[in-house]
Amino acid sequence: ADRPGPRAGHGLPGRLADDVPRANMRRLLEYAAPHKGVLIAGGVLAFAGGLAGLAQPVAAKFVIDTLAAGGSLLVPLAGLTLLVLVGAALSAAGHYVMERVAQRVVLTARRGLVERLLRLRVAEVDRLKPGDLMSRVTADTTLLRSVATTSLTDAVSGALLIVGTVIVMVFMDAVLLGVTAGVLAGIAVLVLLILPRIRDAILASQDAVGEMGSVLERAFGAFRTIKASGAEDGEIRRLDGAAHRAYRRGVDVAGWEALAGTASSLALQIAFLSVLGVGGARVAAGELEVSSMIAFLLLLFYLMGPLGSLIGAATQLQSGLAAVHRIDEVATLPAEEPGTGAPAPATAAAGPAAVSFRDVEFRYGDDRPTVHHGVSFDVPPGGLTAVVGPSGAGKTTLFSLIERFYPATAGRIELDGTDVADWPLVALRAGIGYVEQDAPVLDGTLRENLLMAAPAATEDELAAVVARTRLTELVQRLPDGLDTQIGHRGITLSGGERQRVAIARALLRRPRLLLLDEATSQLDAANETALKETMLDAAATTTVMVVAHRLSTVTSAQRIVVLEAGRVRAVGTHAELVRDDELYRDLATTQLLVAPA
Ligand code: ADP
Ligand code: MG
Repeated sequence: ADRPGPRAGHGLPGRLADDVPRANMRRLLEYAAPHKGVLIAGGVLAFAGGLAGLAQPVAAKFVIDTLAAGGSLLVPLAGLTLLVLVGAALSAAGHYVMERVAQRVVLTARRGLVERLLRLRVAEVDRLKPGDLMSRVTADTTLLRSVATTSLTDAVSGALLIVGTVIVMVFMDAVLLGVTAGVLAGIAVLVLLILPRIRDAILASQDAVGEMGSVLERAFGAFRTIKASGAEDGEIRRLDGAAHRAYRRGVDVAGWEALAGTASSLALQIAFLSVLGVGGARVAAGELEVSSMIAFLLLLFYLMGPLGSLIGAATQLQSGLAAVHRIDEVATLPAEEPGTGAPAPATAAAGPAAVSFRDVEFRYGDDRPTVHHGVSFDVPPGGLTAVVGPSGAGKTTLFSLIERFYPATAGRIELDGTDVADWPLVALRAGIGYVEQDAPVLDGTLRENLLMAAPAATEDELAAVVARTRLTELVQRLPDGLDTQIGHRGITLSGGERQRVAIARALLRRPRLLLLDEATSQLDAANETALKETMLDAAATTTVMVVAHRLSTVTSAQRIVVLEAGRVRAVGTHAELVRDDELYRDLATTQLLVAPA
């Protein structure tokens, strides 16, 4: 009943199963494992520092006994000072070493997570919230900082020191030890009850942080729309709501921690008073030496240190467990299958590719409507094939299936006669140039944008592609040519320019198949002509499939596939389709864009 309900809507599994804390503890130890040596050394240093402290009460007894016997105090006091100094030096060295390891653990976790995120399947990323994913890389990994390291060693050294103290107490007085042990057992039970609540509160708090990330991502992804709609207040409220949830859970954690801390110090005070009472009576009865009683009381005070660090470590460990849980929710998502088959490598030398759809059925998920109902058509090697159809017909999805972003639910998609599912993923994609519908330009220079898909391309290849995609004029106009910053922090390109940059990027890969999802936005006549020329030029050496929204594109195509509600309605040339297909005639006259005059 103390488990949180279904967790915030980030599309991840959520909800802690009963065996999760133990599994998370194992994962936490895995993070610490590579640093075993340093951790043990650090732990030993911390333990030695603590032992030096533990020796103090014993030394005090010795000083008092020496004093009672009328001896000199010089040697014992000098020894005591040395002990304090050594203890301090040891604990400083221990702290530094541990913090280094802690930073290392964070680095490892971040690297692992980023690597994992970029290898996720498109299906997962379509479903998840980028803002929440980012908070896992940035915020949750930070929680691992002290946890995988100081918390573990503090817990171990704290426990060892407590055991050590108790052993020393055995030699002091068994009765007083009994009193102390009873009190300690009480604290232990209380703290064990509190810990799961701390963990759940931290998990909920981190979920709220993730939610803040996705609210921010939503807001900045549509900043103009939010401004134009006057919707700032609504977005601020959303963010505020998430921030407040994080705050409330944080306050919960503080409350539970305060309770655990207070309980332990109160218990020690009670133990102190009991020892004073019981011990005092026994001293009066002559059953106990005064020095033993004083040493015992000092030991009790000493106990506060290790006990505090044990409880602190145990509570901190909870944030580590929560963080590992959120990190592993992502780390355990399925990665893309690289594929094992070995068709001929998809080099440009192999010539244009052939594509076939054979009775393809497709749904985005088991609970989603069917997008493709038995789609079949053939695209022979080379030339321009246009796909047209009303919006929502499933045109963009056809391309996602060829790129194997999603697997077909039934049927096959073949590239050169081999099911794309049987191609090694890298080889499959190496042969395909893909231009998204809203062709993105990434922050960086134009050159970086172009070389992204083909880092090894030469200057000559780059220049040739720039010319082929009619970008020469743009490059000349930009202040630093190819090295001009474009995207968010640089020069904004027009829709047509963005699209041609994306095509150039795809062509640099020397693809055998170019998939071009035309932007639906209106282009000016110059851009439209440039785009068409680029496309026809590409079609001379590769197979080009284009989802077309422009009349000029479809009339240049050798073959047009008319898709309607996930079914192929007709395949033919413009002239044939205008003659034979009612939907096509309608699309051609009313929906396909005609270049502005
Ligand atoms: P088109 O490109 O022809 O406009 P799409 O292929 O984009 O059509 O979409 C076909 C159908 O699949 C639509 O109903 C759309 O809502 C749905 N769809 C598209 N992408 C996704 C996705 N990532 N997840 C779930 N459904 C999607
Ligand atoms: Mg589309």
